[in-house]
Amino acid sequence: MRNNPFDTIAAISTPPGKGGVAVIRVSGPEAFLIGKRVFSPRGKARPEDTPRMAVYGDMMADGRVIDDGLATAFPSPASYTGEDTLELSCHGGVLITRTLLAALFAAGASPAAPGEFTRRAFLSGRLGLTEAEAIADLLDAKSEAQVRLSVGRGHLAARLAELRATLLALVSSAEAVIDFPEEDLAELSDEELASRLHTLCEAISRLCDTYRTGRAVSEGIRTVIVGRPNVGKSSLYNLLVGEDAAIVTEHAGTTRDVLERTLPLGQVLLRLADTAGIRKTLDPVERIGVERAEAALCEAELVLAVFDGSEPLTGEDRELLTRLRDHAAVRIALINKSDRGTVVSPEELGEGFAAILTVSAQGGEPRELTEAVEALFTDGTLVLGEEAILSSARQHATLSRTRDALLRAEAALAAGAPADMYLYDLTEALSALGEVDGRTVNEEVVSEIFSRFCVGK
Ligand code: GDP
Repeated sequence: MRNNPFDTIAAISTPPGKGGVAVIRVSGPEAFLIGKRVFSPRGKARPEDTPRMAVYGDMMADGRVIDDGLATAFPSPASYTGEDTLELSCHGGVLITRTLLAALFAAGASPAAPGEFTRRAFLSGRLGLTEAEAIADLLDAKSEAQVRLSVGRGHLAARLAELRATLLALVSSAEAVIDFPEEDLAELSDEELASRLHTLCEAISRLCDTYRTGRAVSEGIRTVIVGRPNVGKSSLYNLLVGEDAAIVTEHAGTTRDVLERTLPLGQVLLRLADTAGIRKTLDPVERIGVERAEAALCEAELVLAVFDGSEPLTGEDRELLTRLRDHAAVRIALINKSDRGTVVSPEELGEGFAAILTVSAQGGEPRELTEAVEALFTDGTLVLGEEAILSSARQHATLSRTRDALLRAEAALAAGAPADMYLYDLTEALSALGEVDGRTVNEEVVSEIFSRFCVGK
């Protein structure tokens, strides 16, 4: 289903089901006209006579009053979508909202596609693509840090605009050299150009680096917990998840499946797979669990290796240590059951762990673990919500392309190549930079981003 931009669209913007109030949003050139057919004010003023102020009245369907409620008009361009928008607040019953929505369709509105309100906001220039992505993140935010990151979306948009302005100045100077070689129109000398280009490259590289933090906060870190049976993996998993999600038993080898959860740990999200004990087994059902655990381990970026500190290391523990030695992931060792006393020393675990912590999975909040993970996966100097931070793989990939093109331009300039050589790279950088915020982005990318939204947003 695809509406054209001249259609007026409508959808219920509040979550489905019963609620105190529900909001139906209508946006497009005929929003107020369609509103007239379904909303009858009790006083003299229609909502569009008093922009952004709620007007009380009756909601109508088939010429009958079905509810009373409020209507608020947001005339173009000062609305979320940039178009004329009408918001109807009615009682939040399933039947009432559906009847009212059907009345809006009968009066000329089309059903909104998922994310179409936000897409229109983007198309009308009210919102850049990075801001739309941040709103999508906000809608399914799983942590307070993720909300902060999304709320600070304006900083990224502003930073991108700044970088673009700088790059545009370099491009136009290089163009002047080519178009009017004899007139010496270049505003910048070669040295000046090289120096500005270098500064810009560094600024873009720094922005690229923020993705490490943005990714840990908004996409999460693929994490597995490993260890021989009975060391306390399920207990640790439960402690992190905050509820009894995995079955904890006193018998070895009972956690047969791989459970995955995204959960906040301090500022970051862990995409945590709880795996069956990685060990050799003959039980076919358990075998499947072990195979899945192996796969999860291969893909992990963070491995939490658990040991039972209350007893000496076993052969199985040592085997695990050997297996982990070449793993590319960041590894944290947890010497568990500290409440029973600890006989395992950090030295016995050897090298290769980014941190070795003595913990009790039966204790409270694992603060040390939180701090260690934050320190390893985020840049502590970045303030979420107050700085430009990349938060999606798409943003990072496009900005990396921008940086690479600039590096090529820098190399060409340094090698004394003619202006059209480095202009080519600068233009490519400009186009890639434009893609980050949607100025030069293609339709497919836009559709992919808006497909993440629900209807009504
Ligand atoms: P898994 O097989 O590695 O998943 O281990 P479980 O989480 O099932 O734990 C095995 C046993 O150790 C259970 O009886 C847990 O209650 C116990 N256990 C786990 N962590 C601790 C801990 O920190 N202290 C103590 N005293 N017991 C623990």
